[in-house]
Amino acid sequence: MNRLRAAAARGLRRSSGRAVPPAGQGRKGASPRGGAPAPAPPPAQHLFSDPAEIEALRGSLLAWYGKCKRDLPWRTLAATEPDADRRAYAVWVSEIMLQQTQVATVIDYYNRWMQKWPTLQALAQASLEVSVAGAGSSPCSPGSSSNTRLCLLEQEVNELWAGLGYYSRGKRLQEAARKVVSELAGQMPRTAEDLQKLLPGVGRYTAGAIASISYGQATGVVDGNVIRVLCRLRCIGADSSSPAVIDRLWDMANALVDRSHPGDFNQALMELGATVCVPKAPLCGECPVKQHCQARRRKLFGKPTPVPDVEDCDVGGCPLCPPATEPWDSSLGVTNFPRKAAKKQPRAVRTATCVLERRGCHGALEYLIVQRPSSGLLAGLWEFPSLPLAEGLQEEKQKEALADHLQAWTGWPVAAKGLQFIGEVIHIFSHIHQTYVVYSLPLDGDVTLDPALSPSRWVTEEEFHASAVSTAMKKVL
Ligand code: SF4
Repeated sequence: MNRLRAAAARGLRRSSGRAVPPAGQGRKGASPRGGAPAPAPPPAQHLFSDPAEIEALRGSLLAWYGKCKRDLPWRTLAATEPDADRRAYAVWVSEIMLQQTQVATVIDYYNRWMQKWPTLQALAQASLEVSVAGAGSSPCSPGSSSNTRLCLLEQEVNELWAGLGYYSRGKRLQEAARKVVSELAGQMPRTAEDLQKLLPGVGRYTAGAIASISYGQATGVVDGNVIRVLCRLRCIGADSSSPAVIDRLWDMANALVDRSHPGDFNQALMELGATVCVPKAPLCGECPVKQHCQARRRKLFGKPTPVPDVEDCDVGGCPLCPPATEPWDSSLGVTNFPRKAAKKQPRAVRTATCVLERRGCHGALEYLIVQRPSSGLLAGLWEFPSLPLAEGLQEEKQKEALADHLQAWTGWPVAAKGLQFIGEVIHIFSHIHQTYVVYSLPLDGDVTLDPALSPSRWVTEEEFHASAVSTAMKKVL
C-alpha cells in the first residue's frame, strides 16, 4: 500500500500548484508514444537508489533525533495527545506559525495561542458564534454590533499574532477551523491529500507534516531545511526554487521517509537542517548522516571524485548539477549547495505617517490609531494614520499631502505647517523596503471621531504596544 502511495506521489507532477498526470498519461486515449518523451531519470549521484543505504540513513537519522531533538511544546503535544483531531490541531497551529518564523520566536506565541484556543473546536466555536451573528454583512464595517464582535475576534487573533508577521496566516487558520466544524463534522481530514484539498491555507508541506506527525502517514515533507539537507546529500546545485528541482526533492523525500516512523523521520530531517546542516557553517563532523553525504565527499576528495558511483554525472548538461557558468567553488565546500536564482531586489516604498496625540482625561498622552483594510499587506492591523507618498516628493509637498489626507479623513482643519517632522523609520518586509516618514501633530481639547469613518481609537502608549500593531509601527513610537 505504501509503495502504491509512493508511486502515485511520484507520478504527480506539480504545475502552478495543481497536480497534473505524468507525461503521456494526461488525457484519456492519448498515446504515450505520441506525447513528449519521458524525461530521463537524473544521474545516480542525485538519487537514493540503494535500499540498504536508505535503510541505514533512516536508522542513523532516527537514532540521532531520539537523542538530540529539541524539547518543543508542539512535539510534546503530538507525542502525548491521544485524540487524533487534537493532535492534528496542535501540529497544524505550530506548522502555520513556523512558516517564515524561527522556532525560538514561535514558542511563546504557540503557548499563548494553545492556552486561549486549546482545541480546534474552541477556535472554530468562537469564530462561528460571531460569524453567525455577523452573517450577511462584511467584516469590520462600522455600525453593527455583530460586526464589532467579529472584529473583536479578529483583533484578538491579530493581537496574539502581532510580531510573528505574515498576519493572514492567523486569519486563515480561523477560516479553516470554521470549515472543519461547519462542513466536515468537526473531524480533521485524515490524509495529506485531503488536508491540502479541503483546508484553506494548508499547502503540500503543511499537509504532509500534519499527516505524518499526527496520523503516521508515510509521506515526505519538503521545507527550507529539507531542501538544504537533500541538496547537500545529493549534490543538487541547480536552482533549488525551480519547479523541476522541487519535484525531484519531493520524490526523494517520499522515497526516504521511514515507513514506521514517518513523523519522527520528517521532524528529524528538518531538525538536522535547523541545528546541524545549517546554511553558513554546517557541523559536518557531528552529522549523523555524513557517510551518505555527496557534498561532503566532494569537499573531502575534491574533483574528480574517487567515488565510482558518483562519476556518472555529466556536469554542464545535468539538470540537477550547478550550471556550467557557476561551477563548484572549493572555497565554499558543502555550502555550494543548495543554490537559488538571484532574489529580486525589494521594492522601495515611502509612506508618510502621523502620530496624532492628545491629553486623555487622566492626563496621560493618547495616540490615534486606525485600522488597515481587511486584505493586503498587514491586513486588519492598526497603525498611525498613514499615506503612501509619490516618488521624489519634496518635504513641503509631503506635508501638504499628509495634511490634506488627515483633513479629508477626520473632517478637522489640518494645516501643513502644524505637522512636525520627527524622523524616518525603515522596515524591511520580504519584498518591500519601507521607509516611514514620521510627523507628529499635537491636538488641543476634546477631539471626537466620527464613528462612520474608518475604525479608529485613541490609545495610551501601553495600550498601543498591546494592540494588534505591526512590528514596523512599533518602531515609530
Ligand atoms: Fe549537511 Fe554536512 Fe551532514 Fe552533509 S555532512 S548533510 S553537508 S551537515
